[in-house]
This record gives sequence, C-alpha cells and structure tokens, in this order.
Amino acid sequence: MDVVVERFRRQLAYPAVGVSGQERLAKSKIAIVGLGALGSTIAERLARCGVGWIRLIDRDWVELDNLPRQALYTLHDAEYHLPKSIAAANHIAAIDPKIHVEPKVCDLSHRNAVELLQGVDIVLDGTDNFEARYLINDVCVSLGSPWVHAGIIGASGQAMLVEPGKTACFRCLLPDPPPIESMQTCDSVGVLGPAVGVIASWQALLSMKWMVQGGKERMSHDEQLGQSANTSTLSIFELWSGEVRNVSLHRMPNCPTCVEKRFEFLAGTGVSDTKVLCGKNAVQIHVPEGRKVDLAMLSERLRKSGTVFETPFLVRFSVDSYRITVFPDGRGIVDGTENPDEARKIFSRWIGS
Ligand SMILES: [Zn+2]
Repeated sequence: MDVVVERFRRQLAYPAVGVSGQERLAKSKIAIVGLGALGSTIAERLARCGVGWIRLIDRDWVELDNLPRQALYTLHDAEYHLPKSIAAANHIAAIDPKIHVEPKVCDLSHRNAVELLQGVDIVLDGTDNFEARYLINDVCVSLGSPWVHAGIIGASGQAMLVEPGKTACFRCLLPDPPPIESMQTCDSVGVLGPAVGVIASWQALLSMKWMVQGGKERMSHDEQLGQSANTSTLSIFELWSGEVRNVSLHRMPNCPTCVEKRFEFLAGTGVSDTKVLCGKNAVQIHVPEGRKVDLAMLSERLRKSGTVFETPFLVRFSVDSYRITVFPDGRGIVDGTENPDEARKIFSRWIGS
C-alpha cells in the first residue's frame, strides 16, 4: 500500500476529506503564533493530519510547569530549556519527517509581523494576549489571509475563523482591548489541560476544514461570485458545565480594521513599548494611550496570587523574584530583569496585555 494511503487511510475514508482534501492539506502552508498550550496542541494536530508546511513562532522556552497542558513537550525539553519552537519542530520531525517545519524563536511584534505571517495560507492564534491578537488581525486583514482566533482561561474558551473580506474580524468582535484591571490571566485564574485540548482541537478542525474545502482558491472564487457572508461564527465553550454555543458575529459597519483599513497595531501605535532602566535591573513598559488602569480592581485581582502593596498612586505586586509596579496611566515597571522580552512576558502573565 502507498505510504500516504496507509498513514492517512481513516482520514481519506472520511468523505469530506478524501484524496483531494488530503492533497490540499499536503500542499497547505500554515503559521502558528504562540506554542503554549493552544499552539503546541494545534501544531501536533495539524502535523498529524498531514499539513505539509508549518511555520512555528514563539518567544519562550519549555518550562516544567508547561508539561501538565502542553502535551507536545517532554521533561527533556524542560530540563534543557529548549525554545518551544525548536522543541515543537523536533517532535513534529519525529512524527513525520516529510513535513517542512520553520521554527522561529522570536516575539511577534509590529516590526516583524508581516514578514513572519506572509507566504502562508492560514494563520493560527496560539497566543495568550490581546496585543498579539490585534496585531495578527491587522496583518491578516491587510494581507487578505484567513486566521483562526482562539482563547482560553480556566475551562472557558472561544474560537472563530476570520476570512478577511468575507467575514467579521477580531476587531468586530472586540473593538478595543479590555481594561487591564479586568483581565484575567492563566497564571492568576488557572487553566485546565483537557479544556485546552478541546479548544485547540476545535481550532485545528476549523483550519483543516478551510484547507480541505479549497482554502484561498475558494475564498477568491466566492469573492468573484460576490458571495460574502459578512458574518463569522464565534463558538463559545463553557467546558466545566458542558455548555457549548455558537454566536453569529456581524461585521461592524465602522470597524477600524476590516472596513476602514486602519492598521494601528501593525503601525505600532496600538501596542505597548519597553525601555530598559539602566543600572536598576528593571524594565519600564508603556501600554498604549487611553488604557487607563483602575488600581483598586487590579490590586484586588492580584492579591490572590502574590503580595500586593497599594497606594492611590500605584500598585506594587511581588511574585517569584520579580516586582511589578503599575501606575494609573497604564505604565508599568518590572523589577528583577533587564531583558525587555522577559519583562513583557512577566507583565503580560500577571497584569495582562
Ligand atoms: Zn472588523
């Protein structure tokens, strides 16, 4: 039996995939941004499905406390502090060495996002923060590339396919980032491995279906026929209670991104910036204009996770070897590192971004 037929015979037997669908998967190119719990699961799912070309983008390394959720990685990866994109590439090569894998050890930013996300058929969101999602949305809408958004916290998650020019986009769903003090993060609220598996598998399935059904060829064909849905389906999963529902999301008539084509996050005006404070072992982080912080709410949330000191002018939060100070204008200082990437990671992990 042909090796391809042997390996994928149960997928080939599924009528909606068949030989043509399998060939489309083999020819497809995807990029996955973020290789944490969601991204590493998506990477494994789509590699095993037979996607032929995968770009893996992540700024982090594998840590011991990733292993309960991030099933692609091993204790060896954590002990050797392997970058997640390298570890994921190694495991994908062990699953199927025919897959072309491009690991990128870097932080997606407005400076490199176009370069990292162009040249692929579809982008998958494995990130854990809003800035990255708005940036992916800007890049994908500007390039006309589809992407699949997902997010999870605790045991609650959501996922949505965005097809630029055809459906609503992420900014139609959420016109502006939520206030920082209202954000929950997986470090403060927790997250469950099996729940991540459900959301990531749903994301992988949405993208698989898109690729199998003709991908960009079908998108441009629909466009020529004027078949624009103008709606997206947001799937919401409350997995602890077992509730799942689909919500139709309409395109917002004045969406800054998909209607007015203003790509603020790609231009760098909608994102935070960092500055190393020389000699202080600290990094200052500026969140974008207009994102004021309610210090009382923030301090109440952080109290559950570490030591908090609060005055009317600032909230200071100590956790592990770091001290994070947040001011009402959204400015933050992360003490305990001079590395801007590490500071952004710590700020994003505990405060949000
Ligand atoms: Zn939009």
